[in-house]
Amino acid sequence: MFRRYLSSTARNWNSAVTTTNDIVIIGGGPAGLSLASAIKTSPILKDLKCTLIEGNKLIDSLESYYNNPPEYIDKRVVSITPTSMDFLKKIGGWDYVKHDRIETYDNIHTYDSISGAKMEFDSPELATMIENINIQSMLYQNIKRANNESTENELILLDNTKVIKIEEDPHSEWPILELSNGNKIKTRLLIGCDGYNSPVRKFAQIESRGWSYNRWGNVATCKYRDNEIRLSTGWQRFLTTGTLALLPLPNNWCSLVWSVPPEISNILNKLNDEQFKFMINAAAKLSEGELKYLYQIADNDSDKLIDEIKWRLEIFNNKPTNNSEDYPLEIEFIVPNSRAKFPLKLSNADSYIEDRIALVGDAAHTTNPLAGQGLNMGQADVKSLVETLEKSYMRGLDIGSKIALEPYWSDRYLPNHVMLGIVDKIHKIYSTDFTPIVWARSFGVNVLNNVPFIKDFMVQQISHKD
Ligand SMILES: Cc1cc2nc3c(=O)[nH]c(=O)nc-3n(C[C@H](O)[C@H](O)[C@H](O)COP(=O)(O)OP(=O)(O)OC[C@H]3O[C@@H](n4cnc5c(N)ncnc54)[C@H](O)[C@@H]3O)c2cc1C
Repeated sequence: MFRRYLSSTARNWNSAVTTTNDIVIIGGGPAGLSLASAIKTSPILKDLKCTLIEGNKLIDSLESYYNNPPEYIDKRVVSITPTSMDFLKKIGGWDYVKHDRIETYDNIHTYDSISGAKMEFDSPELATMIENINIQSMLYQNIKRANNESTENELILLDNTKVIKIEEDPHSEWPILELSNGNKIKTRLLIGCDGYNSPVRKFAQIESRGWSYNRWGNVATCKYRDNEIRLSTGWQRFLTTGTLALLPLPNNWCSLVWSVPPEISNILNKLNDEQFKFMINAAAKLSEGELKYLYQIADNDSDKLIDEIKWRLEIFNNKPTNNSEDYPLEIEFIVPNSRAKFPLKLSNADSYIEDRIALVGDAAHTTNPLAGQGLNMGQADVKSLVETLEKSYMRGLDIGSKIALEPYWSDRYLPNHVMLGIVDKIHKIYSTDFTPIVWARSFGVNVLNNVPFIKDFMVQQISHKD
């Protein structure tokens, strides 16, 4: 009978001894907290002895966000699909979401900086913009609620605690984790939700393949120029240097993700918020040639930058051929200290499982954010892994064994691989100004934009709607 495989706590948690768990999750990011919440709310898995370990000081910031949310929306914001939202609702997290800080939007307008070719994706509730910390905070509150209702094991959440070493127990072959607080934990199943540099993946000696895009994703929280119309449109301009995305937040706020090569990122980082704001407005409208010139001004003579941009935008806005509705409103304010940059890369682990190991979210795969899919892929991993664990548990299998984990790997590897490939191709197709490719992509986009059933299919893929 399976239960005899299940562990019990050997001794007091705080003493420097080895305790034994059924499941240990490393990482309190969106993937780790979703997994913990899904396990704790699963009627089948909820009583397993489970610990989540996070290296950063997470709990205080999640409590503070929940009880006293900051004035401005955070710089780390993601677009989640209806499928991810349904999953968060199913595992109970959505009960604790800060509704006034999310924005559901119905369309994305994309446009090409060279040919001007446009594509519009419209569908009711296409996706929802939400702060990463809003997701983490709701999941944490949900875990607390589930713990309060627990009759057996509570899920233990250790924050401000780094996993500094993982080794294999020579007798049981189970992983033993050494923590920064001096304690050790042995576990039947170790799940790495520990991000791109995953220590769990390294311990399991699973190769991760991919490449850097040689791009930085520059993010900021911005406010559009005041306008009565409620905006729930996402804008994405494909520049040959990378994409400029302005995604809607409540009350005319928006989230910027601007991918640029390192040399441009360095120039942008030297600008103050006012200059940076003008550069965003320029990048949303002006030609590639003008932008190249403006980067030079920004680098060498930044005092002149704002006047240069104002002058060029005035000419652009007054051209009768330019319809203001074809472009996002101009940015009027950038939230202080909301600017940050992240390296963009593609990676996919050769396997998401090993004996006693599973990888989830960015620990397993990372993608270019241009299609807003990274976190959504992680949510799909969590759903699949929990279903796999439930089935193996019901069948009396050892949930840490590779054979029990196999369905998770076979369910998730191919869809993730396909999505990584699609996003990579989009990045490559739009990163060139080579005329035949510009012509082909513009022709293709114009055709697609006018063929409803193909567009419907693409919307379905973006939003994962059934
Ligand atoms: C600019 C940008 C925009 C994006 N936009 C979108 C979007 O619109 N939609 C979307 O779906 N995705 C988007 N993504 C991707 C998304 O942000 C990530 O896929 C997601 O946050 C990954 O979550 P995770 O929990 O897997 O990993 P992480 O958030 O990286 O969490 C890993 C956690 O593990 C912890 N950890 C690591 N090592 C240890 C250790 N040794 N001990 C203890 N703890 C440890 C870390 O502290 C961290 O908290 C975007 C990404 C970027 C960079």
